[in-house]
Amino acid sequence: MEFRENEILAHYTTFKIGGPAKLFAEVSDANELSLGYERAASERLPVYIMSGGSNILFSDKGFPGLVMRLTDGGFRILDNGRVSVGAGKTLLDVILACCQAGLSGMEKLAGIPGSVGGAVRGNAGAFGSEIADHIVSVKVLNHKTGMVKEYGKDACAFGYRMSLFKKHPELIIVSVEFRLASGSDPVALRSIATKTIEEREAKHPQDAFCAGSFFMNPTVTDEHLREEFRHDSGKEPKGERLPAGWVIDQVGLRGRTIGHAKVSEQHPNYIVNTGGATAEEVLTLVSIVKQKVRDELNIQLQEEVQLVGFGHEEVKTRREKGENDFSWPS
Ligand SMILES: Cc1cc2nc3c(=O)[nH]c(=O)nc-3n(C[C@H](O)[C@H](O)[C@H](O)COP(=O)(O)OP(=O)(O)OC[C@H]3O[C@@H](n4cnc5c(N)ncnc54)[C@H](O)[C@@H]3O)c2cc1C
Repeated sequence: MEFRENEILAHYTTFKIGGPAKLFAEVSDANELSLGYERAASERLPVYIMSGGSNILFSDKGFPGLVMRLTDGGFRILDNGRVSVGAGKTLLDVILACCQAGLSGMEKLAGIPGSVGGAVRGNAGAFGSEIADHIVSVKVLNHKTGMVKEYGKDACAFGYRMSLFKKHPELIIVSVEFRLASGSDPVALRSIATKTIEEREAKHPQDAFCAGSFFMNPTVTDEHLREEFRHDSGKEPKGERLPAGWVIDQVGLRGRTIGHAKVSEQHPNYIVNTGGATAEEVLTLVSIVKQKVRDELNIQLQEEVQLVGFGHEEVKTRREKGENDFSWPS
């Protein structure tokens, strides 16, 4: 296991933003994670866990501790449609391998960037499907106790972009067991996955420098606004939530830029680095969006993207306001 100093985090995120990590290591299992935590403890450094880097905005100053990046971790087909996967494995690779094996269920998640662990932690979803739908159990390392424990699906407290692991950053996902339906035609499954990826691409270029949807879809109970949404989109709202992109569009911020950070013209819930944007520019734009939406529509947007390395004070204030799950592990 190699520790590198001053590794630039921008290289490991889809935003292409972020300064250096004081220490950086790639890890693939609980054992390597534990070694990393030991080293960090001996140097009194904070630790941050990442994987695909597709849901993170690191600060321009980077992270003053150890960043451990989970990669790979293995893939095994078990009996009765069950599959065991290492947390660092790329989600798309897993879905395609399942298609190949005739195991169906996860095709509509094809194209969500990042790892299996990142997807489980945030209960990633698309087109009405969520990763939690297919989970049997999740194995985690509790870095505070050093124990590895398996949680059955019911204990994982999955909700909209939510899980037990998001509320408890001390729980690091090391592997996941899924159950899928067996016996499907691999060619047909592959075709669904390919079409899903094309559909995503048509909504927004998926290789843009961004972290996908920046905000969670807010709960909106104002019936007037909900009616406007129905009228505008011809769609029924999904439960109590309205799409954050539609909400941002209502306050006229589609296309708004600060420096090289831009509210996407195509999908206003994507904040895009158009080339050379700083984290500071992104955060300034984010605060303009949040304030305008709050002032004009009385809606409080909450970040889906994790903001990391912006300093203890900011983390504390925002956490107290309930704005985000700002984890700054001790
Ligand atoms: C173009 C684009 C499109 C996107 N579309 C979607 C979409 O349709 N649906 C959707 O839900 N998301 C979407 N996203 C967001 C993102 O892809 C998902 O949130 C993804 O699941 C994050 O996985 P990751 O490995 O990249 O996590 P990272 O960005 O590396 O980490 C995200 C968070 O998870 C934590 N984490 C990572 N791995 C672990 C682990 N093993 N154990 C515990 N915590 C961990 C990190 O500490 C961090 O807090 C999109 C992103 C992009 C760039």
